[in-house]
Amino acid sequence: MFACTFVFPIRKGAMAAAEEAVWELSAAWWRSGQMIGSPFISARGASIVFRMVVPERASISPASGTDRTRAAWTAFRKLLRFRPRPTFDRLLVAPPVCRCGKPRRSFFSPEPHGPSSPLWCARCRGNVPLHRFGIQDSDTIAGLLAAEEEWEGLYWMWIHSGATEKVGLRQISDPDGEWFRDARGAVADFERAAGVEVYMEVFNAYSSRGNPEGRLCPSCGRRWSRIRAFFGLACHRCRLVALAPWYDSPPPRGWRSPQQRRQGKRRGS
Ligand SMILES: [Zn+2]
Ligand SMILES: [Zn+2]
Repeated sequence: MFACTFVFPIRKGAMAAAEEAVWELSAAWWRSGQMIGSPFISARGASIVFRMVVPERASISPASGTDRTRAAWTAFRKLLRFRPRPTFDRLLVAPPVCRCGKPRRSFFSPEPHGPSSPLWCARCRGNVPLHRFGIQDSDTIAGLLAAEEEWEGLYWMWIHSGATEKVGLRQISDPDGEWFRDARGAVADFERAAGVEVYMEVFNAYSSRGNPEGRLCPSCGRRWSRIRAFFGLACHRCRLVALAPWYDSPPPRGWRSPQQRRQGKRRGS
């Protein structure tokens, strides 16, 4: 992953138009998965300085873009004195990027501690740049990114231990919860558009028994399967994965546990 900087030289008298056009370019880069997170956009004399995180150097090439990014770039280009070359600085703290091109199977598992896409490759375990899937409908990627941002909000609700702590954890750990069902719809749209399989992570913080493999898929009540990928546990029928729990202890008293709820359900029900 790289910090990518453009210094755009704006034509005389075109700064107001350029400020608008650069926002459209920014939105298009985000909605195509070419840029991760929000950019820093500043003025330097008659230039606009644009700093962003990109998954790889090729991310901002026209070939990685969508019709919308190409149109936004064409409009913005008319306001420039010349086309600048970007500079790239490798991020010192960042996950490795997937080496498999367009992985056939990945996991939706947002990472709350730094820039990344929400998808991780089941084969090489790298972070998967969303622009690689060649999806033209940017609402599909925007839906996935919205689900990622909501997940992070719910995660921090839990971590910060305020009044909504319990609600935050339940939403990301219960496949029957409101956030989970909504996010599953966004993931399904992405699967259809990209022609790949995406498993969703059931956030699994607390263990109700010592052995997580002895527990059941919280969606269908069947046993988890062991998978070699870093998540550890999977239900292929529900396209769910789970890590081994963080805490080898039951959830706090009174907290609803979707995992425990399924313990009594019969296999095959
Ligand atoms: Zn990979
Ligand atoms: Zn299941």
